[in-house]
Amino acid sequence: MDFRLTDEEEAFQTAVRKFGDRVLRAHEKRIDADGRIPAEVLREMAHLGLLAMPVPEEYGGMGASAVLTELAAEEVGRGDFSMATAVFFLLEAGWGHILARHGSEGVKREVLPPVCAGNAFLGIATTEPTGGSDLAGMRTTSHRDGDGFVLRGEKAFVSGVEEAKSLGGGHLTLTKSAEGGFNFLYVPTNSPGIATQRFQNMGRMGISTGGLTYADARVPAAHLVGPEGKGFGVAMEGFSVARTFVSAACIGAAERALETGMAYIKERSAFGAPLAKFEGIQFELVDLFTQVEAVKWQCRRAAWLLDTYTLQGDHSHRSEVDRAVAAVKLTAPPIAFECVKRVMMWFGAAGYTKDVGLELGLRGVMSYLVGAEGGLNIMRIILGRELLGKEFLPYP
Ligand SMILES: Cc1cc2nc3c(=O)[nH]c(=O)nc-3n(C[C@H](O)[C@H](O)[C@H](O)COP(=O)(O)OP(=O)(O)OC[C@H]3O[C@@H](n4cnc5c(N)ncnc54)[C@H](O)[C@@H]3O)c2cc1C
Repeated sequence: MDFRLTDEEEAFQTAVRKFGDRVLRAHEKRIDADGRIPAEVLREMAHLGLLAMPVPEEYGGMGASAVLTELAAEEVGRGDFSMATAVFFLLEAGWGHILARHGSEGVKREVLPPVCAGNAFLGIATTEPTGGSDLAGMRTTSHRDGDGFVLRGEKAFVSGVEEAKSLGGGHLTLTKSAEGGFNFLYVPTNSPGIATQRFQNMGRMGISTGGLTYADARVPAAHLVGPEGKGFGVAMEGFSVARTFVSAACIGAAERALETGMAYIKERSAFGAPLAKFEGIQFELVDLFTQVEAVKWQCRRAAWLLDTYTLQGDHSHRSEVDRAVAAVKLTAPPIAFECVKRVMMWFGAAGYTKDVGLELGLRGVMSYLVGAEGGLNIMRIILGRELLGKEFLPYP
């Protein structure tokens, strides 16, 4: 077992951290206030190879491993504390990877190069107004019609709806197939028959969340991702990848909070001593650090499992992968939230101000507690299923 990063991984991690310090931190409040990530930030990300970075080089990406992408996700989450840039980054990394693995040659050539160059957005659309956890109960349908598929229905709480509309691009969209099973389809947002709506969120304001309505929206057969009728499994593979990167971004945010807090408690005094000397605060820091460190290595192992098995098309370790991914997605968002919340309290009244900016992180990380990329109870259900067996699933 070797926990060392390779020289290449370390160099890339350093480069992304520098980009985070120099560009993302400088822009995060503007990203939050303006409700979008500035074009120059996306340009720099594309230049560094950060957009859809696991996509193979022939489609414009850098063919990065899940481990390298995980390391970058930590740094993007540390850099833009609002999490908006991290969401943009990880959706494209996770779902770009899935499109590259399971898409037709035509759709890969059409979609991936502009996504990797920052000229289009790629996301995921599974959630519906009637619910996101019970995906098998979804109502959006697709049926074969000549040389394409026709979609009817509605998706909700989908990230990047406005970005896909304004930049170009679309979402990998899970639908119930009229012919049986599920079809996973790449759906360009600007297709005829699609209407969009933006929701007003409380955080990560720099990336939109909204609804998509499909009124007989048509996509070519080449937009099918994975085999016809078998899209559910492909989407689940994508969730394993995306949830690992979500967890990594949360770990980056947690470390940023602790670093901010450590600097402050060494400087700020009360009762004649720096706050850092008081065990009530120092021990809290140590407990949080220990938990973040544990989940960080758990997350890197999840990425390693993906690289070693799932992303090689080897599903012989599916249960181990599912357990590792569900465990980090269950642990990383709450510990990140706890770190931000505790550090806000170390700051006292200043922690409650927009100037200090900790509230950005609190609002951003909260999205992963309420449900983005799967609610915490869904992670518990996956873990319960893998530990006890399918017969103990809490639903039929
Ligand atoms: C900021 C943000 C961005 C998002 N971006 C996207 C996106 O890009 N694409 C997309 O498709 N979706 C997106 N989502 C939606 C997300 O996937 C859903 O929120 C999630 O799947 C949960 O679905 P739901 O919100 O409908 O909650 P519900 O499914 O209605 O569940 C409500 C609550 O009940 C819990 N619950 C559900 N079933 C059980 C059970 N059997 N036992 C115990 N508890 C249970 C859930 O964990 C949750 O806490 C986003 C959400 C947010 C907040």
